[in-house]
Amino acid sequence: MSVFFISDLHLQESRPELTEAFMNFLEKKINSEDELYILGDFFEQWIGDDHENQFINLIKKNLREKTTSGSKIYFMHGNRDFLIGKKFCNDVHSILLDDPHELEISKKRILLMHGDSLCTDDKDYQEFRSLVRDKNWQEEFLSKDLSERKEVAKSLREVSKLENKSKDEAIMDVNNLEVLKTIEENSLDILIHGHTHRPFVHDENGVPRMVLGDWGSHLWYIKSTDGEFELVKERI
Ligand code: MN
Repeated sequence: MSVFFISDLHLQESRPELTEAFMNFLEKKINSEDELYILGDFFEQWIGDDHENQFINLIKKNLREKTTSGSKIYFMHGNRDFLIGKKFCNDVHSILLDDPHELEISKKRILLMHGDSLCTDDKDYQEFRSLVRDKNWQEEFLSKDLSERKEVAKSLREVSKLENKSKDEAIMDVNNLEVLKTIEENSLDILIHGHTHRPFVHDENGVPRMVLGDWGSHLWYIKSTDGEFELVKERI
């Protein structure tokens, strides 16, 4: 039995090669006794579980086939798909996790995060994050019709792209003190996150911080078997 972790696939209708890579990954890597943790930004955007199209239905079908065959799949929100809800997870027989989520594998304490909450130097982003994670904001957004939601999502993305252009690279990475605090407060053996698109295994005072990469020309995943954790990069 293995446990897999992935994040930042940014699946989108306009990039069918990513969807195909994910379907291959499910088929070839994930066995019926395995577990898969998807740590956010699985979708490039998510405007509500009631939004359906061919692209979304294909992914749902593949996820459902996998979970029906016995594999367990868990979802965590990212900063792009934070509106994935209970309906989507029920439809694909998956479980929605809080961010952060703690688990134990082979007696190791592991914390899973999307990673955006660690980027505390980016004050504008953290302000935006608390706005869109607010229940009232989300309820109001989801009460709009689909075409209006698409417009809002588009303009939010454009604003964020513009803002990120003018930001220092370091601001958009994790804050080191926040990382050390998180590791210490939770007495962690391993911290796993994505979001920054800077895949690497950092040594944080003896504790590995494993950062997943985004999918593009390559796919990235962490595989854990018999208490060993490995960050893997493969060509798509
Ligand atoms: Mn992200």
